[in-house]
Amino acid sequence: MTSSTPTSRATVYGYPRQGPDRELKKAVEAYWKGRIDAGTLLGTARELRLRNLAELRDAGVDEIPSNHFSFYDHVLDTSVLLGAIPERHRGAASELDRYFAMARGTADAPPLEMTKWFDTNYHYLVPELGPDTRFTLDASKPLAEFAEALEQGVTTRPVLVGPITYLLLAKDPAGTAGFRPLDLLDRIVPLYVDLLRQLREAGAEWVQLDEPALVTDQPADVLAAVADTYATLAAATTRPKILLASYFDRLGDALPVLASSPVEGLALDFTNDAAANLDGLASVGGILDKRLVAGVVNGRNIWAADLTAALSTLGTLLGLAGSVDVAASCSLLHVPYDVTLETGLDPEIAGWLSFARQKLGEIVTLRRGLTEDRSAIEDFLRTNAERLASRAASPIVRVPAVRERVAAVTDADLHRASPYGKRRLAQQDRLHLPELPTTTIGSFPQTGELRKARAALRAGRLDQTAYTEAMRAEVRAVIAEQERIGLDVLVHGEPERNDMVQYFGEQLTGILATQHGWVQSYGTRYVRPPLIVGDVARPEPMTVEWAAYAQSLTEKPVKGMLTGPVTMLAWSFVRDDQPEGDTARQVALALRDEVADLEAAGIPVIQVDEPALRETLPLRTAGRAAYLDWAVASFRLSTAGVRDDTQIHTHMCYAEFGDVLQAIVDMDADVISLESARSNMAVVADLARAGYPNEAGPGVWDIHSPRVPSIEEITGHLRTAVAAFPAERLWVNPDCGLKTRGYPEVRASLTNLVEATRRARA
Ligand code: GLN
Ligand code: ZN
Repeated sequence: MTSSTPTSRATVYGYPRQGPDRELKKAVEAYWKGRIDAGTLLGTARELRLRNLAELRDAGVDEIPSNHFSFYDHVLDTSVLLGAIPERHRGAASELDRYFAMARGTADAPPLEMTKWFDTNYHYLVPELGPDTRFTLDASKPLAEFAEALEQGVTTRPVLVGPITYLLLAKDPAGTAGFRPLDLLDRIVPLYVDLLRQLREAGAEWVQLDEPALVTDQPADVLAAVADTYATLAAATTRPKILLASYFDRLGDALPVLASSPVEGLALDFTNDAAANLDGLASVGGILDKRLVAGVVNGRNIWAADLTAALSTLGTLLGLAGSVDVAASCSLLHVPYDVTLETGLDPEIAGWLSFARQKLGEIVTLRRGLTEDRSAIEDFLRTNAERLASRAASPIVRVPAVRERVAAVTDADLHRASPYGKRRLAQQDRLHLPELPTTTIGSFPQTGELRKARAALRAGRLDQTAYTEAMRAEVRAVIAEQERIGLDVLVHGEPERNDMVQYFGEQLTGILATQHGWVQSYGTRYVRPPLIVGDVARPEPMTVEWAAYAQSLTEKPVKGMLTGPVTMLAWSFVRDDQPEGDTARQVALALRDEVADLEAAGIPVIQVDEPALRETLPLRTAGRAAYLDWAVASFRLSTAGVRDDTQIHTHMCYAEFGDVLQAIVDMDADVISLESARSNMAVVADLARAGYPNEAGPGVWDIHSPRVPSIEEITGHLRTAVAAFPAERLWVNPDCGLKTRGYPEVRASLTNLVEATRRARA
């Protein structure tokens, strides 16, 4: 091996996969529908990879990664790489179809489970590993993608999910007692050794092994396994140099372990809380024998970097490592592709933003600032400083009226007028609900017609009046449907909402929508998160007309439906110039006004959804109490202004509530509905154990599949719930909203839900 040159390099760990116009999504979906063949799909993928390669090279990125492309997900790619293919997917007609079978399932083989990639909004497919799993290496993808770039004259750095992270993300579907996937380390490390040899023989000089799991709290035995594993990998005779990459937070206790390991390079995040990596590096005396790749440009937010501040961080790091390279803090997969496509944005605001392409420019500029005379980048620094100043001084960013209102919030604003016991009586007097009241979570099926009407409105083929009438017709149908089925608390069905966050983002000032800001959520699903750019306020009521219209159609109580502050932030790009808790309070005050207007319009029940509350928990436990503080406070601020006889609901999904049970108690909603059918109502016992004093609606119908639950099945769930939690405080509802379901299943399932409840009451 040759020794590394002392100069700095610009690099990235990954780049948006989809192409500027989501070409990959379109090609993959066309393949699924049988409209194109495998050869055409592979051709499109190759074109997109070559396009990215050229783009990175032309931008001046010195060391370009490979193997960051994926047809669906990079963790799924790793399962294929290691031959961890569940038995049920092995029968597929081709390797490509087997891959998609693992991702999406087939008629008789359900897919791998999907879950969130750390604290991002990207989802990966969970490897299924049991004590009997045997691995076999299939290095074809990383080798082919390395060779493809080499043909273009570029020696890339292949990127792979590291062995520790891969196993820590895996699950044993059988739940074998005493087994954890990490026990399989000895079986996969030899495959990595073999893979490294093959990459080296193909010409790779560096390889990147991603170990983001090391930024979460890990016990001593895992850290010892990390030390052993990387000692073994480094001891291999034929291999590229190893860059061990971490991102999303600081390394903490893992840093000394990695600093003393024999790998040649470490990649560390220096943005947000991960800035603590700087002190961490200093306290281990630096990594003077290693290459440091410094993630100083935020790879998961959309703000232009502060180049001067980043240069000063890089300057400090020069004294702490053998060499310092400049990078984004994580793969650029998590940001949209290109700001310059946003022709609808005010150019001044566009100048504050930086998507993937712009971040390449920042990284290359910073590298030049390190290696060349500073005057070479003086113009960039000046423009950057002007843009940051324009942002800081903008009347959109700082709205005095909003700030004064937030500053005036008192503790009393966070408390309902009376305790739950008294509110309960007032609500009973007003609502006259039966025992075990039935309701739904809010949305009814988003039919093709609804989506068509929205597209027609956007295209100008339908005017606002006609659109509103189409949505009202849907509300009438949804109310009639619920009355026919016999539900107790009705909803308007949310037909007018494109998305539960975007819908509100479009109506609040301080929040902007993009036209092309697509980010991969999972597989071929892309979302366009709103951008919270400034102080948030509500110019006008957002939902009152819909709720009031629905209430005018029925004698039964109608539940108004809002998205909570934590979820608004979690599914948007947030501002980086103030604590998230401050932004959440602004959103909460806007919602508080909406709640007050709903109440004044006669809506007796109001639900503020917080499905993202659990998933937003900081990766490291140390940050969790402070997060839960502002999360709970912002929910309370948005809901606590109502009268005793107005009933506040909240809703959460995505299971596993263990870490947030106390927060659920502290939110003090009158009623919470929770996803629980798939976990056999486990949450009910959790609530009871946590001493949850208010009402709860554990979901009795898993809405994630088209299956209609039978009356007996729902009765079984109700029995489990009643055994663990006082019946007089229980509600009956599905797990989540019904927007992804079809009417036939919804009708049948809700009819069974109401019938099972009727029998349970008797
Ligand atoms: N009210 C929303 C709905 O029913 C809640 C969605 C969610 O929890 N993700 O669609
Ligand atoms: Zn839900």
